[in-house]
Amino acid sequence: MRATMRLYILASGSRGNAAVVEGPTGSVLVDCGLSRRELHRRAALVGCDLDRVCAILVTHEHGDHTSGLSVICNHFDGPVYATAGTAMARAHLTRLPLSAVSNDCRLELGGMIVQGFPLSHDVSDPMCFRFEVVESHRVVDAIAWATDTGYLTASAMHALHGCRILGIEANHDPQALADGPYPRFLKNRIAGDTGHLSNAQAAEALPDLITSDTQTVVAMHVSQENNRADLAAQALAQAVNARLDPPGGSVAHAAGGRLTVCVSSQTEPMAFR
Ligand SMILES: [Zn+2]
Ligand SMILES: [Zn+2]
Repeated sequence: MRATMRLYILASGSRGNAAVVEGPTGSVLVDCGLSRRELHRRAALVGCDLDRVCAILVTHEHGDHTSGLSVICNHFDGPVYATAGTAMARAHLTRLPLSAVSNDCRLELGGMIVQGFPLSHDVSDPMCFRFEVVESHRVVDAIAWATDTGYLTASAMHALHGCRILGIEANHDPQALADGPYPRFLKNRIAGDTGHLSNAQAAEALPDLITSDTQTVVAMHVSQENNRADLAAQALAQAVNARLDPPGGSVAHAAGGRLTVCVSSQTEPMAFR
């Protein structure tokens, strides 16, 4: 595959999420759990031009994905897409000019084909997206990720397969979650079928998702309470026979350097080319 898109993960985790996919003719913002000011500050740090954003996609109603949306929408003229379930789920969302789409929607935005797919999370109708650039009926580039899901649905496995850049939720280390400070109901919620993917679940899925086209695997929505970057990296690296560099760090390489495994951050924006 050829790098015709870029991915900017401006924030990932339970304290706020926002990502931008930059396509050939425009960019798409996925979720906004940051203030407008913080979104712009982080975008500038990694050279992400928010003036190119031509549409906003909302995965689900949780505050870590939507807290900044109302203000962003006041300054944005383009379409904002969410499922009808998400659009109706919270008062602050019902007041926004959201365009309702199905969780398997297919949109053309910024020169990209955007394919929605459903997730399993304790919200109304969650979805995530695969982004493709197609030339002469051939997929030349693909980026997808999935977070906020208790397991990967069959359509999620399909959508995540064979991407050049693949993001996968590695929310918690099961032992760290069990030993951690959260009350039992919250531990059960996180580990349940409508909660979040663990390091082990992500690692188990990974070999079925990567192909020779895959260049980057990013662990996403990594919990600051129930996980560590090095644990998430280690789990994913092991699954694809990648070697941590340096040992004990949170970046790994495999396939003679053609595949990189890394971990997204709650606080530091990251750019992937
Ligand atoms: Zn979340
Ligand atoms: Zn969520």
